[in-house]
Amino acid sequence: MPNAQPLFRLAEDQPVASTRRGVCPSLSKPMQTGDGLLVRLRPASGGLEPKVFAAIARAAALYGNGILEVTARGNLQLRGLTEDTVSPLTEAVFATGIALATGLAVETPPLSGLDRHEITDARPLAGRIRQAVAACEPALRLAAKLSVIVDGGGAFDLDAIVADIRLKARRVDGALRYALSLGGTAASARPVALLSEEDALDAVMDILQRLDRIGPTARGRDINPSDLALSGPLLLSPENPSDTLRRPAGLHELGEGLVVAGLGLPFCQVKAADLIALCEKVETLGLSEIRLAPEHGLLIPGLPREAARALLEYAATLGFRVRPDDPANAIALCAGTAGCASAYYDTHALADLFIEKAPDLLDGSFDLHLSACPKGCAHPAATALTLSGASLGYGLVVNGPASLSPAAYIAANDVASAVARLGSLLRTEKNAGETARACLTRLGAERIAATLKQET
Ligand code: SF4
Repeated sequence: MPNAQPLFRLAEDQPVASTRRGVCPSLSKPMQTGDGLLVRLRPASGGLEPKVFAAIARAAALYGNGILEVTARGNLQLRGLTEDTVSPLTEAVFATGIALATGLAVETPPLSGLDRHEITDARPLAGRIRQAVAACEPALRLAAKLSVIVDGGGAFDLDAIVADIRLKARRVDGALRYALSLGGTAASARPVALLSEEDALDAVMDILQRLDRIGPTARGRDINPSDLALSGPLLLSPENPSDTLRRPAGLHELGEGLVVAGLGLPFCQVKAADLIALCEKVETLGLSEIRLAPEHGLLIPGLPREAARALLEYAATLGFRVRPDDPANAIALCAGTAGCASAYYDTHALADLFIEKAPDLLDGSFDLHLSACPKGCAHPAATALTLSGASLGYGLVVNGPASLSPAAYIAANDVASAVARLGSLLRTEKNAGETARACLTRLGAERIAATLKQET
């Protein structure tokens, strides 16, 4: 088990949190973490040319610690920078010619424009929203973490990602419409109205102007839908929202004989050398882009099936996760003590414990969230089970986000046996055909907490 440091960081060892919470790290605002400064890049197009991606990886190795991450929302992070290396890194990144999105996050599904199941390519409307925001004078003062999702539907929809403002494409009597909702995931958001593209753009800008007037901490939930002047019919409920994100690992059909090769990053991270090797391989295949995917992955579109299989085999030798049934795919984890000053525990070591002792839990029906503190960077949305680091131990959160008050705490020195007890509970209690998630829901928070808290 790769555990050079203690699994749990004692309270007296806990550094004063140096992450600036509520602030999004960027090249101009790097964030302090346990392994130095971190910057987050949002490619404007969602995809990166292999040679550009390789150049960024080289810069990450030269100016940082050579660890790159793809976040839960599909952004790229470079770790281990110093005050002195941020500036040369910035120059190196811009020298690649990459276009980066800045300011308000307007997100689209990772396969937009390629997904044969999508209703529309969401990127043009997302671009119009970005342009309209950039044209505002004076500039809008919006919360740093405010996000807009424009979702054209498809296999890789963003229903399970939390957004302040969501536009989800629908086909209504043959016409394209956008369902506008506020706050939460698609399932938990407040439905507002069904709008044409032009009206959707106006409505988003109206909401952003209102948020600006409320103040720089205002979020989508602070808007009262009845205050909006909307030209479309009111929306009463979301349309079959999915509550889990499609995981990237494996082959995905693109139509016309082509597939997408999907890779999961081991522990959400990749070493620069491995990423460079992957990029070089993708370039030799004549492919033009690698797309960043939510759930810590990469999608490489446009390959014939056999070539995609061969690429996955090669990627596996570099350590990428390529099997859709890999139990590790079902774990969302943050950097932990290996890379964040706010962390209470080693998330990688705990992930290994779950894979070894509780594999029945990792059937892909939900994301097990290992969050080394209550901030929940790796999985902002609620999930069936989270272990949230705190001074009292591992906080057990059932059906909630990492920030929810835990149902129980597991003592640091009891965690290995607690995970084993949970694995055994699942093995004995899971009915034939029942998913781990359904089983956990049936057992309920009290039973799970009692199992985990039993003394050895
Ligand atoms: S959730 Fe993890 S990465 Fe995020 S601040 Fe907490 S310890 Fe750090």
